Amino acid sequence: MSKLDSLFSSELAQAETRRVRRRLRTASSAPPGRIVLNGAPALNFSSNDYLGLSRHPLLIERAREWAARHGAGAQASRLVCGNLDLHEQVEAKLARLKGTEAALLLASGWQANAAVLPALLRAAASRGEVELYADKLNHASLHHGCQAAGVRQIRFRHNDLDHLESLLAARAESPEDGKPVAGKPVARFIVTESVFSMDGDRTDVARLADLADRYQAFVYLDEAHATGVLGPCGMGLAGLAPGRIDLAMGTFSKALGGFGAYVAGSRAMCNFLINTCSGFIYTTALPPAVLGAMDAALDLVPTLDAERARLAASGLRLRAALQGMGLDTGASSTQIVPAIVGEEARALAMAAALEQRGLLAVAIRPPTVPAGTSRLRVTLSAAHREADVSQLIDGFAAVLA
Ligand code: PMP
Repeated sequence: MSKLDSLFSSELAQAETRRVRRRLRTASSAPPGRIVLNGAPALNFSSNDYLGLSRHPLLIERAREWAARHGAGAQASRLVCGNLDLHEQVEAKLARLKGTEAALLLASGWQANAAVLPALLRAAASRGEVELYADKLNHASLHHGCQAAGVRQIRFRHNDLDHLESLLAARAESPEDGKPVAGKPVARFIVTESVFSMDGDRTDVARLADLADRYQAFVYLDEAHATGVLGPCGMGLAGLAPGRIDLAMGTFSKALGGFGAYVAGSRAMCNFLINTCSGFIYTTALPPAVLGAMDAALDLVPTLDAERARLAASGLRLRAALQGMGLDTGASSTQIVPAIVGEEARALAMAAALEQRGLLAVAIRPPTVPAGTSRLRVTLSAAHREADVSQLIDGFAAVLA
């Protein structure tokens, strides 16, 4: 018993009443594209293992080998004595693939966004005014990082670069609008995602870079769902605007099959973060096994064009089928395909009915998505066979009948 158990219990009871209580379910070992949940086998259309790399023998072997050779842990934070040559090897490989001067590893995508944004924003705020433009549907970790910095966000409509442009223009044209004070520099930041996690739509990165150049804005681009899947070498959409995205952040936890995260950009920026980012400084360095899986994934990803083509084809096929059944797939153009059904209860009922048929496509509800846009969020993997996607399509048809 803890001293706050009565508080915890009443909070949970309230969540239960509002039907938003979350519960963990237990997944046991299954190959990519499949899952055994609470003992029941299903096709898995809810994981982020977009290339099926989580079980790839090369990742597992290198993780095993690096752990055997270098130990289970890095023993300290990087600035103390935990900075292994392995970290630097992976960072150099990553920077090469991303086409950036440098890259820096972080413990997880959540931690990267939550810790890097405050480091950047606070430094800028200490010198002058900060204007922070953020997509309305940015991931919770981006939102958290912006909030932690204590900088007010100017939210632009989801993936609407016209709206972003009008907000930038309005401020630039009316400096007396409270902000740029004479003599003080203004640092502008645009924080957005290249592929959005709940909608599977993508940002027009070239246009984003044009806007950022015109308004001298620093671009922070979250590539969590693009890394491994889209762009040159499959390493994200920032590569479509070479040298023009100031910071591309991504994870190793989704298409790259393992765990951990990165930011890629200039050497000065990475050195600055090594000096100021609390989520880098005050945490133990990533362990050798994790680094081994990262290193192997980076070797593999550029070679996986056939898998990426299969994934894209599955996305096209699924969207066409769902739309044919009258379902709204939003602006999805990637491996993330939402079936937006609106009401929470309907999304939950459909997810449960699919699960009864051995198909896992988890319902996503407010507050994760805006009210009235509850959905089944289907995530495809190159590990899914055509027959698996057919089974999902048949499942949707049966559930809607
Ligand atoms: N950014 C986005 C857009 C995400 O969807 C996620 C994961 N849900 C993260 C960051 C966090 O990444 P990680 O899972 O590596 O912590």
